[in-house]
Amino acid sequence: MEENCIFCKIARGEIPSATLYEDEDFRVILDLGPASKGHALVLPKTHAANLFELPDETAQKALVVAKRVAACLKEGLHADGLNLVQNNGAAAGQTVDHFHIHLIPRYQNDTVNVTWQPGELSEAEKEEILKLFQ
Ligand code: AMP
Ligand code: ZN
Repeated sequence: MEENCIFCKIARGEIPSATLYEDEDFRVILDLGPASKGHALVLPKTHAANLFELPDETAQKALVVAKRVAACLKEGLHADGLNLVQNNGAAAGQTVDHFHIHLIPRYQNDTVNVTWQPGELSEAEKEEILKLFQ
């Protein structure tokens, strides 16, 4: 539990939330500023600021929870698709520093924007990046 972390307080039930799912390790809530109908957030009950701080065990469990709730949302809301979004750092759009996975149901012709302009992969950059994993 991190002092002053709103998602710690929500995940542990100290602040009420619209909860879709809860178990020992996670709470899944509706986002207060939804990108689309059914936009939900998977919150671990233990604090990790972001993906890089997340214990492996929590990371594994989080995807299983996300998968299950995503399936319920997609079926129940008759969504046409669904994005998983997970932001790390302000540069990546993270505004709450407690790891969370966005579940964003998508509907044909909705106005949600999770896109980018395709760039180009130069040979030099490709080599630089591949070297990191050799
Ligand atoms: P991110 O920008 O990835 O850090 O996402 C933070 C998300 O949390 C945003 O989509 C907000 O709408 C949502 N949010 C912030 N405060 C609350 C809250 N008290 N309850 C539910 N969702 C929240
Ligand atoms: Zn927290």
